[in-house]
Amino acid sequence: MPNPRPTVREVLADGRRSFSFEFFPPKTAAGERTLWNAIRRIESCAPSFVSVTYGAGGSSRDRTVEVTKRIAAETTLRPVAHLTAVGHSRAELRRIIGQYADAGIRDVLALRGDPPGDPRGAWTPHPDGFTHAHELVTMIRQLGDFSVGVAAFPERHPRSPGWTDDIRHFAAKCRAGADYAITQMFFHVEDYLRLRDRLMSVGCLTPIIPEIMPATDFRQIRRFAELSDARFPDALAQRLEAAQDNPADGHRIGVEYATEMSQRLLAEGAPGLHYITLNKSTATLEIHQNLAVDTAKPQPRP
Ligand code: FAD
Repeated sequence: MPNPRPTVREVLADGRRSFSFEFFPPKTAAGERTLWNAIRRIESCAPSFVSVTYGAGGSSRDRTVEVTKRIAAETTLRPVAHLTAVGHSRAELRRIIGQYADAGIRDVLALRGDPPGDPRGAWTPHPDGFTHAHELVTMIRQLGDFSVGVAAFPERHPRSPGWTDDIRHFAAKCRAGADYAITQMFFHVEDYLRLRDRLMSVGCLTPIIPEIMPATDFRQIRRFAELSDARFPDALAQRLEAAQDNPADGHRIGVEYATEMSQRLLAEGAPGLHYITLNKSTATLEIHQNLAVDTAKPQPRP
């Protein structure tokens, strides 16, 4: 049965805001239960979509496909499937996209991915694969009527030689057919606004959805920020560090900060908000509730 919810492209093209949540494919049966608890709780707030990240390799990739298909088949949610070019030939990518199409999934986030094992290592494409995400966008577009998202980087892609190249390459993904982008996590609203200004200055008006990671746990957030090269605010780091032995305080601090960021981003005209859940729902649902947005109703953009 076709999904009753509009695609991300349709939501944004209608001038509405999207509110969404991101999950990852779990490795264990216990992880699977945690994920489905979170999915069911998040379903109750009727988000515009939920997305499932694509694993670095092996069986986690099959689990991404399984979880995404199950969301499409067993929930009222619209799933967005992340897909990367890492280690895949063009034929394999075509097959995965075909599997999604067969399951009625029409939303794909097209990514290049990082070198397996060492995300900072040199990128080597599959001999019959793609070198950059814009090629995957082109393939997905050719294979059917998909709503296609891409990645954007408020602090620049960590391996980019400079802003001029990064903006040019991002614009190429949009010309290849990307309908929207979701950003890497960031902690300074100004970085998002500067990226948007840079893109506007080259005539690129693709909606850029900011990705928010609630920073509730000092150690975890430090590791994530290092992995993604995100600048972490000193004052927030100090508050979280002081709350290390009191998880309830850490939770409150992280939710407060992410709520303020979300409010500012919406006031600045962001086309939506995308929350990293880490397969837990409590913090992201609290932030969403703090915003008092009735996601079940269309949310016009200013
Ligand atoms: P690209 O757009 O190809 O860019 C990669 C680099 O190449 C950039 O430096 C860019 O400037 C440069 N470049 C692009 N085109 C050219 C060109 N023509 N010539 C020269 N240089 C060029 N990773 C996963 O493994 N699984 C996931 O599920 C996942 N989900 C993500 C979700 C979001 C919202 C984001 C922001 C990232 C996600 N990633 C994921 C990480 C992403 O795969 C990496 O950040 C990767 O390094 C960049 O992917 P990209 O699609 O932006 O690549």
